[in-house]
Amino acid sequence: MYEQLCKTILQKPVAIRTIHQYLTEKQEDTPTCILRHDVDRQPLTALNMATLEHSLGIKASYYFRFIKGVYIPDIIKAIHAMGHEIGYHYETLSKCRGNHEKAIALFQEELTTFRSLCPIATISMHGRPFSPHDNRNLWQKKDFREFGLAGECYLSIDYRKVTYLSDTGRTWNPHRYNIRDQVKQDVDLQPNLESTNDLISFLDRGHYRDTCILTHPNRWASSKGAWLYSASSDFIINQGKRVILALRRP
Ligand SMILES: [Zn+2]
Repeated sequence: MYEQLCKTILQKPVAIRTIHQYLTEKQEDTPTCILRHDVDRQPLTALNMATLEHSLGIKASYYFRFIKGVYIPDIIKAIHAMGHEIGYHYETLSKCRGNHEKAIALFQEELTTFRSLCPIATISMHGRPFSPHDNRNLWQKKDFREFGLAGECYLSIDYRKVTYLSDTGRTWNPHRYNIRDQVKQDVDLQPNLESTNDLISFLDRGHYRDTCILTHPNRWASSKGAWLYSASSDFIINQGKRVILALRRP
């Protein structure tokens, strides 16, 4: 299904570019399509996805968490060697339970470890749905550019101009299960999509403007057993999110 999505995009008059390219290179007339991946767990699925994209001549952006089982240097280096962008999927404010000073120090430490593997120019926050801390708040008192970074995925992109589509909650519907990965966006920029087939026909209808498609590779398993495992854990997490969203409603 993901291959079909990539092939659909490749047929369109859009340029697939990494987040770093989008933020630093001059925008030409051709609209940009960004393929962003947040690697939350199961980094092998990211390696599969990166290999598929590489075989199609696509360069995407991969954001890795710094946790056991995800930060695997050999996988990160292999994806970087294919020409993809590697970014840091940080969550130090929730790791440090809201202690800002400790979270900044840990951010610096983890970023330095990532940079021993390959260049890191952009970051994206990990939106832990069950943590009270929003990792983006790390930048309320500090500027990420002090760390030699060109951008933060939620803060550096103007989502009034870029259509943002995310697979969070195993649906392209932006409201159902999405607690943290949200961006502020006009309704006319956010199409009402559910399945990847919906997304493909949306692109086929001629959506030629800047777009960022966020996928979590662990949701896109390549074997049936792995898919079933990933789909059922998403189901359980979605039930938890349903409770949180219901409690938030007035
Ligand atoms: Zn994440």
